[in-house]
Formats: sequence, C-alpha cells, structure tokens
Amino acid sequence: MKSISDTRTVLVAGGAGFLGSHLCDRLLAEGCHVVCLDNLQTGDLGNLKAAMKQPRFEFVRHDVVEPLPERITERRFDRIYDLACAASPPQYQQDPEHTMLTCILGVRHLLQLAEKTGARLLLTSTSEIYGDPEVHPQPETYRGNVNPIGPRACYDEGKRAAETLVFDYDRAGRSDVRVARIFNTYGPRLSAADGRVVSNLITQALADAPITIYGDGSQSRSFCYVDDMVSGLIALMEHEGPQPGPINLGNPVELTVSELVDVIVDLTGSSSEIVYRPLPIDDPRRRRPDIAKAETVLGWRPCIALQDGLRRTIDWFDADRSPTLGDRPA
Ligand code: NAD
Ligand code: UDP
Repeated sequence: MKSISDTRTVLVAGGAGFLGSHLCDRLLAEGCHVVCLDNLQTGDLGNLKAAMKQPRFEFVRHDVVEPLPERITERRFDRIYDLACAASPPQYQQDPEHTMLTCILGVRHLLQLAEKTGARLLLTSTSEIYGDPEVHPQPETYRGNVNPIGPRACYDEGKRAAETLVFDYDRAGRSDVRVARIFNTYGPRLSAADGRVVSNLITQALADAPITIYGDGSQSRSFCYVDDMVSGLIALMEHEGPQPGPINLGNPVELTVSELVDVIVDLTGSSSEIVYRPLPIDDPRRRRPDIAKAETVLGWRPCIALQDGLRRTIDWFDADRSPTLGDRPA
C-alpha cells in the first residue's frame, strides 16, 4: 500500500462507529493526526479507547447535519473521510428524515470544508445504491434498482444523492473526491444491538438463543472483513491520477443467509434453534460486488477468508461475555 505519511491531518466523520474507529486506528498507526467528528448516534466512545490514548487524536462531538463548528472549519485538513451515517437498516430507518439529511447535508458540509481547505474527500457510499439488483454481480456501471419511496430509500437515495453532489463538486473542479461503494462489512466493534445480520447471528449463537433468519434464508450477501475494507478505503483515498469514479469495495465470496448461519453455528458450537421471521420490505434478494475495477485501479482485493474473519469477530464478542477476560480487546 502507498505510504500516507505525507498526509498528516485527517478528518474522519463517523469515526466513532464500527468502520470509522478501525480507520482512525489505522491512520494513527500510519503517523497521521486524526480528528474524529461524530454525534455518537450509533457510534460509541468505547470504540475509540485506544485512539483516545494517542496525542495525535482528537474527538469532536457534532452532528454533520448542522454547519460544522469553527474549531473544525478553521483547521487545515489534508484528507476528509465521510463515514457519518448509520449503516444498519433498523437504525437508519428509526429517523429516516435525519438519515437522508445526514447523507446529503453531511456530505455538503464536508465538501465545503474540502473546497476551503484543499483536502481530498472520500465518501463512503454503499452497495445499497444498487437496490434489489437485476444485474449480478454488480459492476460500478450498473445504475441500480432502488425503490425511491420504500423504507430503505432514506439511506439508498440519500447515498445516491450524496454521490451526485460529490461528482458535481468534482466536475466543477471544486474539490478532489473519491467514492467507495462498500458492500457488507463485518468484524470486531460491530454493535451487538444494531440489528445487522453478522452481529445478530453471533450474539444469538453465543447465547444459545434462537437464531433469527428473515425470510427463507435464500437471500445472499458477500461479507468483507473490516481490516480488508480499511485497506481498500485508504488505497482509494491515496490513489493518484485521473478521477477513477466510484469503486466497489467488498469481498466477492457470496453466500446465502442460511449458509452464513451454518458457518456461525459451526464456529461457535451453538445449540441455538433457528426461527424464521418475515423478510423486511425491499430486502435485496442477492448482492455480490464485481471488484475488477478495484483490482485494476487500486491493486486491492480482500485477503481475509470468511472463516478467519468470523473467528476473530466471534472471539471479540465472546471476550465481552467472559468475566475472566475483562475488557474487550480494543
Ligand atoms: P456505524 O453506524 O457503526 O457508524 C456510523 C457512525 O456515524 C457512528 O459513529 C454514528 O454515531 C455516526 N453518525 C451517524 N449520523 C451522524 C451524523 N448526522 N453526524 C455525525 N455523526 C453521525 O456504521 P458503519 O458500519 O461503521 O458504517 C460507516 C459508513 O460506511 C457509513 O456511511 C455507511 O453508510 C458506510 N457503509 C458501511 C457498510 C457496512 O457494512 N459496515 C456497508 C456500506 C456502507
Ligand atoms: N437478516 C437475517 N436475520 C437477522 C438480521 C438480518 O436474516 O437477524 C438478513 C436481512 O434480512 C438481510 C441480510 O440478513 O437479508 C443482511 O442484513 P443486514 O441488515 O446485515 O444488511 P443489509 O440488508 O443492509 O445488506
């Protein structure tokens, strides 16, 4: 991976969340000064336990829907990562208006800062912009099949509009931008309560509680381990040369929800029963990234196998339940 030692001051919006906190840790390890901006809506300061000990780290509590505070706008940044947005469907649907505004006003405020300070900005977009895809696997050229008035639209359409704004800034030469379309990512620090499939299944399996499959379990996803995703985000941010356009980041190994349940039950040795619950409205039937562009342009591809990543994630969730292990590893 390209060195990022010359990119000293980095703003990570949404840095207290699952993905953002791992990104903060990696950037600190690379020698960067990191300012994390987060309203703690779904994030947790516990995720930043290690980062908080570093003198090169700063936390600012702020909602990106609101204009950025002076202590941010008066600083100079080299890089701005926009990860500020709840990613779990139950969470982003709790206050859909705020989710949409977070996507759109949030990226606008960060783009304005990027323009002013000359920083490069990376938006974390999502595979959800492909909706319930009719093209499989999904290349970046696919324009998607999103229901604009359904319960997922606040997120899907919010991210699509955010992409639009980012590329409008690019076309007008107002800032240097990158867009990552992230596919399902998992790992330590997923919130146990946020309702995503990997955290649900692991916490249920470890507790020998009923494992919830929505629908018949035949819908598919492709799961990327968080360390691979962080490497991909940094590789994209540091990519030089002509604007590469949006780039899919994810692990192309696809499996059904039922297959994922089997792997997790096997790895945990759980005796949980399986219960079936209704499939949420507009739940995509299948999803797998075409990562040819990431491979060609960035030289990136994920290298952590699902079994290894799940084992690490299970160990992290398990440490929290064991009185002998004390604090979770950071
Ligand atoms: P997360 O919910 O764990 O983290 C999101 C962070 O953003 C939290 O710390 C939250 O408090 C903060 N936030 C939310 N709204 C905010 C606001 N208005 N102002 C300031 N902070 C706000 O989610 P995550 O999985 O870490 O996802 C991070 C980013 O990556 C999101 O933008 C998400 O859309 C994108 N993404 C993630 C995945 C995935 O599988 N994890 C997939 C696709 C896209
Ligand atoms: N899902 C499930 N059981 C759960 C949580 C989720 O079967 O306890 C399903 C969900 O319906 C979806 C898939 O798992 O088909 C992935 O869900 P998640 O919310 O993690 O991500 P997304 O739908 O945004 O890809």
